[in-house]
Amino acid sequence: MDIPLKVTSQGLYCPPGDFFIDAWKPVPICVVTHGHGDHAYWGHEQYLCTDHTIAILKHRISQDIPAKPLEYGKKIKLGKTWVSLHPAGHILGSAQIRIETSQSVTVISGDYKRAFDSTCLPFEVIECDIFVTESTFALPIYQWPHPDLIKQQLIQWWAKNASNGHPSILFCYSLGKAQRLMSLLKDEKDKKVYLHGAVQSIAKIYENLGIPMVSFAPVSEKEKGASFSQDLILAPPSALGSTWMRRFPTCKTGFASGWMEVRGTRRRKALDQGFVFSDHADWNDLILTIEQTKAKIVLTTHGNCATLARYLREEKHIDSRELKGLEIISEEED
Ligand SMILES: [Zn+2]
Ligand SMILES: [Zn+2]
Repeated sequence: MDIPLKVTSQGLYCPPGDFFIDAWKPVPICVVTHGHGDHAYWGHEQYLCTDHTIAILKHRISQDIPAKPLEYGKKIKLGKTWVSLHPAGHILGSAQIRIETSQSVTVISGDYKRAFDSTCLPFEVIECDIFVTESTFALPIYQWPHPDLIKQQLIQWWAKNASNGHPSILFCYSLGKAQRLMSLLKDEKDKKVYLHGAVQSIAKIYENLGIPMVSFAPVSEKEKGASFSQDLILAPPSALGSTWMRRFPTCKTGFASGWMEVRGTRRRKALDQGFVFSDHADWNDLILTIEQTKAKIVLTTHGNCATLARYLREEKHIDSRELKGLEIISEEED
């Protein structure tokens, strides 16, 4: 079977459709899976993505970005291919890309997850011949707890810190993860969380697009010197150890990420608490998803590609290999 994809120096290219996917250098037409920095780059002549992703790109890249919205499920003709976007369940606006040629159907997953997330549409299983899957957490040690459990842990941790007079600072990726945590707390009507500026600006986008979340306000809303001893504060990982933290001298720190599954990560970052909470599929969901697509060829990208491809070949007898050349992309979010 011919694979209608090629890795070039600009990024992943679809020759029969003459377009790129999540290209990292400026290209004429780029179909963008979602708004994270390691997928949506500056400078393309035309961006094709969901309207929610456009809202994010307007904030992240430019207000007058040359972007055309494409509804989920709607097929458009690009070159000799039909292209459509389908929910990936990763963050607001995230999409898988389905490419149909006269020979085959290829689906590029982008980043995806199967766990519940009320900030975006759930992942849609699409049967295909060729499935390009991410493999960020493709090791059997990665098994996510249910989001309800994380919600309980978070509320308990916050309450304990508050009763001891410590602000709770939770570090999490500012696009997607933070808003998903805020949506977990949406029924806590008496609560309000404080946000670092980077989280606040994206939370406003989510709020404007109608995503229900707990009440929130920027940290800057409180007067200088006011105490945060009873508060939960969400901040991006880049704020960890920065001067921004001087405002919270007695704080307890937590981190919400799939990487918290690995013992030692939390200790290395000198955090008080880790929450195993990811916007990527865990090991079981990767395997389940791959089997559900019924793909005959599975190409792995982003992360533990070799491990996943070998497992699929040896244990599942699926023709699988790494999609080489995309390694230069580093996973920015978790
Ligand atoms: Zn992502
Ligand atoms: Zn990614």
